[in-house]
Amino acid sequence: MESLAIVGGGIGGLASAILLSKKGYKVTIYDKAKSPQPVGAGFLLQPPGQAVLHKLGILDKVLEQAVPIVGLQSKTLSGRSLLDLQYSRLKGSPRNGLGVQRSTIYQALLDEALSSSLVNMNWDSNVEECITKGDVVSVVCNETKVDYDLCVLSSGSNSTMANKYFKDRIHRPYGWGCLWTTFELPGTLAPNILHQRCESSKKMMGILPVRKSGEKYEAALYWSMKSADIEKLKRSDFPALKNEIMQFWPDAKNSLEHLGFDDFIAASYNDNWIPKPFKGRIVAIGDISHATSPQLGQGCTMALLDAWSLAKHLSKEDDSLESSLEEWWNTRKYQLSYVRQLSKFLTPLFQSESKLCEVFRDWLMAPVGRLPVFDNVQLKTLASDVLLRGASIELEE
Ligand SMILES: Cc1cc2nc3c(=O)[nH]c(=O)nc-3n(C[C@H](O)[C@H](O)[C@H](O)COP(=O)(O)OP(=O)(O)OC[C@H]3O[C@@H](n4cnc5c(N)ncnc54)[C@H](O)[C@@H]3O)c2cc1C
Repeated sequence: MESLAIVGGGIGGLASAILLSKKGYKVTIYDKAKSPQPVGAGFLLQPPGQAVLHKLGILDKVLEQAVPIVGLQSKTLSGRSLLDLQYSRLKGSPRNGLGVQRSTIYQALLDEALSSSLVNMNWDSNVEECITKGDVVSVVCNETKVDYDLCVLSSGSNSTMANKYFKDRIHRPYGWGCLWTTFELPGTLAPNILHQRCESSKKMMGILPVRKSGEKYEAALYWSMKSADIEKLKRSDFPALKNEIMQFWPDAKNSLEHLGFDDFIAASYNDNWIPKPFKGRIVAIGDISHATSPQLGQGCTMALLDAWSLAKHLSKEDDSLESSLEEWWNTRKYQLSYVRQLSKFLTPLFQSESKLCEVFRDWLMAPVGRLPVFDNVQLKTLASDVLLRGASIELEE
């Protein structure tokens, strides 16, 4: 195998391009965006995701603009603690999360990918299909058809491309999403915590510090809403909504005051799952294969781990492709399946209209979660330190 196509130059696609070009493959990335898209609000990047960035040689660059996050605090409006997870309580080596703008990671990945003479980037290239025939896969885009030895599909959560090749792919919208924005972190909030406030299971707001600029911090704000309500939201509805947000969390009032409708981005979430995400000469990684709702803060880290592990397992020997992909998936499927199932279980506790979910969360899950054994499970889950299998050893090398 010599030449690889990557469909989707987002987080997983760019990381794959860097890693695979380092192994000597000629890589062509196709992205439907007309030009680079350093956009998005923010991620909580977990320790294994940081380790992948370190392997890629871009962690220091990202750290310059990221904020160390030492814990997650989720409270009800009345101040009752629902979750208080501190990375410092994790057993083993000291770790923390990173609050980081998507644009920071994206730009660092893009610069690194484009610095390789083996990586070719095609913008404005909405791939229509990939056709596998024998030992080649043809990528069809902009009325051209180019043959490759392997195609990595990394076209994100909403992409339906994979449906053609993986008939058993699950793609279910969650029904709830968020409005996102970035704003100045209110001075009353600690700059190293992911803060969350909930009222029943219907209302939730989160504030994640993502960048330090001078003495101030920028933060990503997310406001949970039903997807149907997001779709109906009009410019004229915005002042009332902003008022509701400011009353919900008065600390945020001053920082929000000057923001308008256009400063907010709508995001919808999907439950995606491909039971076996490789077939012939096509392999799917990242959100197209296993998107979840972002409550657990795992999406970016999972895409980076997919890319890392895939590059590790691919070999230039053509006849071992099927077994290489099988081995790759064996290192990824347990963690990804765990994250997906947990996300499906937890999301309604924070984003639904169910009274039962609220009672369960506040009166059972929260107190039980404080017991040391569950606290440890929650912490390991948050830090993406579960079912890493071979990947953790490789990352620590
Ligand atoms: C613009 C944007 C902003 C985002 N902002 C946030 C955020 O603020 N917070 C958060 O938690 N997550 C955000 N995400 C999602 C986050 O990037 C992913 O959850 C995670 O990083 C996994 O990434 P991925 O590589 O699977 O896909 P993504 O990073 O989503 O990348 C998918 C890429 O595929 C391209 N693409 C799609 N279809 C095609 C096609 N047919 N042909 C060619 N290219 C195609 C897209 O243009 C995109 O560049 C954002 C994603 C995007 C694309």
